[in-house]
This record gives sequence, C-alpha cells and structure tokens, in this order.
Amino acid sequence: MNLIEESFRRLFPEEEFAYTTELAYNRRLGNFNANIRRKRTALAVNLNLHWKAIDNEIKIGLIQHLLLKVFKRRGRTPNIALYYNFIKNAHLVAPKTKSDPILEASFQRMNEQFFSNTLERPNLRWGKAAFRKLASYNFHSDTITVSTLFQTAEPGLLDYLLYHEMLHKHLKFRQGGERCSYHSREFREAEKRYPEQEKREKEIEAIIRNQQRTLRRKKSFWGWL
Ligand SMILES: [Zn+2]
Repeated sequence: MNLIEESFRRLFPEEEFAYTTELAYNRRLGNFNANIRRKRTALAVNLNLHWKAIDNEIKIGLIQHLLLKVFKRRGRTPNIALYYNFIKNAHLVAPKTKSDPILEASFQRMNEQFFSNTLERPNLRWGKAAFRKLASYNFHSDTITVSTLFQTAEPGLLDYLLYHEMLHKHLKFRQGGERCSYHSREFREAEKRYPEQEKREKEIEAIIRNQQRTLRRKKSFWGWL
C-alpha cells in the first residue's frame, strides 16, 4: 500500500491524486517526529524510525495531519483522531534517558506540591541560554527543556517554570475543533495556583530584560573595538 496516496484518498475522497510520492524513515528526526515536503507534484514524507513498527492506521492519521498542513486545509478523520490519541500516549514508550540533579529536585518539589507525586517523570534537560523560549515540553520525546539562563535562578523561579511545563504534560493538548490549545482556560487556572504567581511572572520578565541588556552591551563593546 502506498501510505501517502491512501492517506490522501481517504482525506480528500473527491479529489484526484496526481503526485509522485516518497516515504522515508530516518534516525535524525526526534522521537515520533515527522515532516512533509511538497514540490509541485511531488510529496515527500519523512518519519522518525520509531514509526516503522506502528500500525498503518495510525500512520495514515499522521500523514493526513501533515497533508492538511502542507495543503493549508482543515479536516478531521477517524485516522487523525487515532493519531492524536497515539501521540498523547507516546510518552509511555519514550525512553527516559536524560536527567539533571537541579531539574530533578525541582520536578520532585512540584510533583509533591501540585500532583500528589502522581506525575511520571519525563526527561529533564537544559537547553541553550535562550531568552525567548525559556522552557518547553515535547510530547513526542516526553522531555522538559529549560533555558540555561535559569541554572542560577533561585529555586522558586525554576520551580515555577517546571510547574508550567509539568502542567503541559499533565493536561496534554485538548482537541478543541481542529486546533490544539496548549494554554487552555483550565491550564491558566491551574497555573494561578502557584504561590505569588504574578510576582514570579514579573521576575521572569526581569531576567529576560537583563539578559537582553547584557547582550546589547557586549555587542556595542565589541562594536567600539
Ligand atoms: Zn506553555
């Protein structure tokens, strides 16, 4: 079965399929990641190697999800629903290999305080010294990544970032219509349970502003030389 063609036909039953296709598996993509490219009448789909062992019906959902993106269309099929369900549970099979003592201590504090120690530990890692994306949660690899800017932050601040990302893991994404909503009302309400939440938000903004100022100063210093 040509999976790309099958996915397309089920997704757009009225339309003619006039594309050449290429489906490849590779190791470079992150756990259960995938992408699609379209060049005129050629469609190429790349899947992370882990997809190889997964049922075709779920793969069709994934490819349909990618087709909607590449054709800028909206839609919902039973296969797409299967795929979303699968991804919501991908953390169960994602290998847990990364951790760090500072992040782990923070995770444990938050797990005890807000989740009665019921949240399964994801991978925990430091990212780059990013001041735009301070922290993130990747559903596919079950990984929380935190900007190294927070390596020296006081625990209360780091905890707040961790709590935010743990909420993502806990609430997953809710399928509201065709768009995933990550920061739902439920999410924002849960976030407010963090002690002095507004103060923490302001402190984080201050850290970002400081960092940007330092960067600008460095730049102008070297510019002057
Ligand atoms: Zn978020």
